Amino acid sequence: MSIPFIDLQAQYHLLERDIRAGIERVLAHGQFIMGPEVEELERRLADYVGVRHAVSCSSGTDALLMPLMAWGVGPGDAVFTTPCTFIATAEVVGLLGATPVFVDIDSRTFNLDPARLKAAVARVRSEGRLRPRGVIPVDLFGLPADYDEIARVAAGDGLLILEDAAQSFGAQYKGRRAGALAPVGATSFFPAKPLGCYGDGGAVFTDDDALAEVLRSIRIHGKGSDKYDNVRVGINGRLDTLQAAILLSKLDVFPHELEARQRVAKRYDDILAGMAETQFVPDGYLSAWAQYSILLRDKGERMALQGALKKDGIPTAVYYPKPLHLQGAFAALGCKEGDFPVTESVSRRIVSLPMHPYLVDEEVDRIGASVRKTLSQFREEG
Ligand SMILES: *Cc1c(COP(=O)(O)O)cnc(C)c1O
Repeated sequence: MSIPFIDLQAQYHLLERDIRAGIERVLAHGQFIMGPEVEELERRLADYVGVRHAVSCSSGTDALLMPLMAWGVGPGDAVFTTPCTFIATAEVVGLLGATPVFVDIDSRTFNLDPARLKAAVARVRSEGRLRPRGVIPVDLFGLPADYDEIARVAAGDGLLILEDAAQSFGAQYKGRRAGALAPVGATSFFPAKPLGCYGDGGAVFTDDDALAEVLRSIRIHGKGSDKYDNVRVGINGRLDTLQAAILLSKLDVFPHELEARQRVAKRYDDILAGMAETQFVPDGYLSAWAQYSILLRDKGERMALQGALKKDGIPTAVYYPKPLHLQGAFAALGCKEGDFPVTESVSRRIVSLPMHPYLVDEEVDRIGASVRKTLSQFREEG
């Protein structure tokens, strides 16, 4: 019997009546654009994350784009980020004509390394070609980056901080929730994320009243008093009312799901102890476990493991097979293999195992046993 990588059906089974009722309500009132569910969702998201404003929008990508637009980031600006992330994190920087400047990751957390950030900012400043403007730390696989250290570096250099919390909704860092770990946070409701809708969606979080107003304007074509009064260049960035209704149902069970993810991760940790390195969760951090990933010794071992697990009906995934600095989209930056050795090593050795809140202990045990067996055999032979 094969195990799904992410089981959206199990969740739907549990919530079907509620989700259908929510969809029916939207069909009945017919306010498909910015209907009452959008406002209700934004209130509940803001409460959960612990910020004054949640501005929902059409995707996680737009949730990253809109704050950069609000800040006026553009040509000549350097925005620092990690090459070990999904393309969207750096794509929004390029889209605005600014320059993404990559900074290697910490080898244990896989997140942006604050010490390397400091060095990268100093280098850009001394080169004098670009103006250091902001940093986008990513909470990779659901684990928050080290925001205290990043804020210290950013404060010294006057950098804006935008948290990419696309994978970390629900996570915590020193008692604060992901999305609220920087002056602005962005999350995604793509179906496979910890809190996912049934299409594209996202949200921006902030305590800044003035910024929230600008974000709400950018989201609807730079509207002023209404959408036919346009005071700035914006986008069509709204979240569908139907998706908001679906998210309201899912938010009800989210805290329970987050606990279930902790249970699955803990069980994997126990079974795999000593076999493979896992993502290090420092004290005071809670991961949302968007992915549960392990580091193998090398690419060969990873290929062998993926093949063996596949035969056992266990899917795996590699995030990310090609680091951003080696993507064709950023060829103009002139980066090359060897520029970010930690990211490159992780990219060759990492693999993610099935992870979702509805994995039962027996399934985790079966996956864990299959990983242990394969790695032991492979290492004996090797
Ligand atoms: C998914 C993701 C995004 C983009 O979110 P979309 O909703 O797919 O646009 C951005 N950053 C990271 C790290 C992501 O994982």
